[in-house]
Amino acid sequence: MFSKILIANRGEIALRIIRACKELGIQTVVVYSTADKDAAYLTLADQAICIGEAPPAESYLNIPRIISAAEVTDVQAIHPGYGFLAEKDHFAEVCRSCNIEFIGPPVAAMKAVGDKVECKRLARRAKVPTVPGSEGAVDDEKQALEIAHKIGYPVIIKAAAGGGGRGMRVAHNDVSLRAGIKQAQAEAENAFKDSTVYLEKYIEFGRHIEVQIIADQQGNAVHLWERDCSMQRRHQKLVEESPSPGLKPETRQKLCESAVRLVKAAGYYNAGTVEFLVDKDQNFFLLEVNARIQVEHPVSEMVTGIDLIKEQIRVAAGLPLSFKQKDVQQTGHAIECRINAEDPARNFAPCPGTILEWRAPGGLGVRLDTHAYAGYRIPPNYDSMIGKLIVHRPTREQAIATMKRALSEFHISPIKTTIPIHLQILSNERFIAGDVDTGFIERVMMAK
Ligand code: ADP
Repeated sequence: MFSKILIANRGEIALRIIRACKELGIQTVVVYSTADKDAAYLTLADQAICIGEAPPAESYLNIPRIISAAEVTDVQAIHPGYGFLAEKDHFAEVCRSCNIEFIGPPVAAMKAVGDKVECKRLARRAKVPTVPGSEGAVDDEKQALEIAHKIGYPVIIKAAAGGGGRGMRVAHNDVSLRAGIKQAQAEAENAFKDSTVYLEKYIEFGRHIEVQIIADQQGNAVHLWERDCSMQRRHQKLVEESPSPGLKPETRQKLCESAVRLVKAAGYYNAGTVEFLVDKDQNFFLLEVNARIQVEHPVSEMVTGIDLIKEQIRVAAGLPLSFKQKDVQQTGHAIECRINAEDPARNFAPCPGTILEWRAPGGLGVRLDTHAYAGYRIPPNYDSMIGKLIVHRPTREQAIATMKRALSEFHISPIKTTIPIHLQILSNERFIAGDVDTGFIERVMMAK
């Protein structure tokens, strides 16, 4: 086992990793930018090293500085968290070539699943259904129209290098497709420095259901069941839950088995998520694989009782998984609400600044993963998520009641947050009935 790990991330996930390491008896080094220099979680690590200025390119994305910090502090491994360098196969390669283990998948598997077009090829080989669409990149209008006519409208244009719900456009006819292709290519070039786009059938009224997997270096790959992340705004997740309220048991089984087949075909190890869209008739289609720990991993931890970060560290150290598939039970119901510093009244504009008042919820079944507190200054430079409120109760009905109670206790001021919208979602009759899809929030809750 490692004795010292460097955490190449910030905020709640850095704190989450520090906590796991403490319980494992592993020392931690956390790196930070000048924007984060006063954050209290830094004091919980054994060492904290400033690696540069606030812009991510100067700090959390700066590979040479992170590697220097790792070498100076003599760590054996680096945990990348999520975002920043977590899915950069080049970073994984650099770490390992410096004899520092990257706590994540092997480089070849990251490459195979990291490109959305390549990943679909792999899925076809592993007999995992994919969304009908272009076999690969779509270069021009003529080709796009041909494909759209073959699969039928509506279609969605997506950036091959896309992520975080960005770079997607839905087209309902030839006119919007023609316009959309050019715009999507320009946007993709701008955002990801790669103009490659592809087409998929747009699955209307689908649910986003993803499967948590973890695999060791001995060839054991298991799933930790599914999460339903259909509650999204602008293709970004707001609420996640496990189990999914909209899945038949046989679909759940098939979905989870497909996810395991796919990661095995990719020669994958460590944690990952296989994302699917599930249509009204319970047909499921692969969306993509996220080769990292995800924001919403706690809901899977709550229903299975497995600490995913500890397990990631174990398998990175070459140890076998500490459990078998048959040991992984899905017990009770867990829900997570992402608490973002955003102003729902101002179209969810980020709301950085200093938190003056902070009263956090607690009580039976409540977990709060956050690095924020009264007096914490939210820097404007990074993601607006300041915490994750998670509940775990025996039934979905009880989980909803506990979440509503916890959200109503949660007082943050003067920073505006997504708490009011979560309260609205949790009180919505169709959400309570489990009758939701990826367009639900925008169609039903934001429509005025
Ligand atoms: P990203 O990598 O940007 O997160 P994903 O491919 O995971 O992109 O898709 C994010 C979300 O976009 C999905 O959860 C879903 O809401 C929507 N989406 C993506 N592809 C489709 C599709 N073919 N049909 C319907 N919705 C889609």
